Amino acid sequence: MIPNDSNLQDRTAHATTRIIGEYDSNTPGPRIVILAGVHGNEHAGVEAAKRIFTALGTMESGVQGRIIAIRGNLPALGREARFIDCDLNRMWSGATLDALALQDPADDNTEQSEQRELLCRIEKEIQTDRKSVVFLDLHSTSAPGIPFVIIGDTLRNRRIAFPLRLPVILGFEEAIEGTLDEYFGARGLVHIVVEGGQHGDPTTVDNLEAIIWLTLTTSGLISHEQVPGIDGHRSRIRDAGGGVSAVVELVHRHGTEDGDGFHMDDDHINFETVRSGQRLASDRSGAIVTPKDGMLLLPNYQNIGNDGFFVGRRVRKFWLRFSAMVRHLGADRYLPLLPGVRREPGSDVVYANRKVARWLTVKIFHLFGFRKCRRDGDILVFTRRPERPV
Ligand SMILES: [Zn+2]
Repeated sequence: MIPNDSNLQDRTAHATTRIIGEYDSNTPGPRIVILAGVHGNEHAGVEAAKRIFTALGTMESGVQGRIIAIRGNLPALGREARFIDCDLNRMWSGATLDALALQDPADDNTEQSEQRELLCRIEKEIQTDRKSVVFLDLHSTSAPGIPFVIIGDTLRNRRIAFPLRLPVILGFEEAIEGTLDEYFGARGLVHIVVEGGQHGDPTTVDNLEAIIWLTLTTSGLISHEQVPGIDGHRSRIRDAGGGVSAVVELVHRHGTEDGDGFHMDDDHINFETVRSGQRLASDRSGAIVTPKDGMLLLPNYQNIGNDGFFVGRRVRKFWLRFSAMVRHLGADRYLPLLPGVRREPGSDVVYANRKVARWLTVKIFHLFGFRKCRRDGDILVFTRRPERPV
């Protein structure tokens, strides 16, 4: 019997408490941290996590490690709103966190206050044995479409995400600043973002529940045989994913400005094929077309936030295998041998002089996991997520 079962039942009974459920076997094993409802209009993750703890409460034993599920934005969840004052999933850059540390808590807006609480929780969970921590960040989308996964491009993230056999998106760290993924990624922690389906669709809860169970087995918290109905969860995800188990990297983001009248054209869905020049949306300036061929991702039908839509393109399996191999071999240590390329020894930052290294494509840096790029005059500064906790 799970030792703190009664405590667990108490906690799951109160919908407005921070903790949805927690269990610790007090034996070695992975430490799973589920985040749900970071966006307050996305309740499916909370419901899915509740189902997991209800099932764990009826099981005899078999869990090796620790699992906790945390609600993200409590006031926004209470109001079924994405956020109250600002998007809680865009506040995690180093500069924003430094500013928060200097700010008087009495001056916090709603999300800053939530962020302080979450920071305390997160820090508590990663105090010991950071290598064994897996963060699972549950979301849903405004548009219909199949479930998918978003990761920072590290081998440790791939190891947890790829076995789900759902589409996996790489490259969000290049396109969006200040997400929780940026915060965890910069610290070398495993962090998997899951989009389970459309807001309000009951199957989104089923999808997220299945994805949690499969992640628990992949990470070793519990064996396949011990999960009730594991075959059903596996076939649910196989069916929900429509057999699209591609790895996709972002090639375009259409950003919006507050008040620019952005409006997505009707009836677009996640992963539909789009062609360069195809009209997808409009704003006060007129029609908006995609400049790239690819798959449409996260078309924004909720008229909130500054991400209009994204376009991604499939990464060939050869490149995935090749990039895993060169990273295992530590081939990135030879990057400074290329003309115009410099690297601080042992760091995850590479500098490329565009004048000298103009023949180098961004693809070469992607191969080694250097996905974030900024320009500093003639220098391109590439950074990547550390493979180990820092
Ligand atoms: Zn979300």
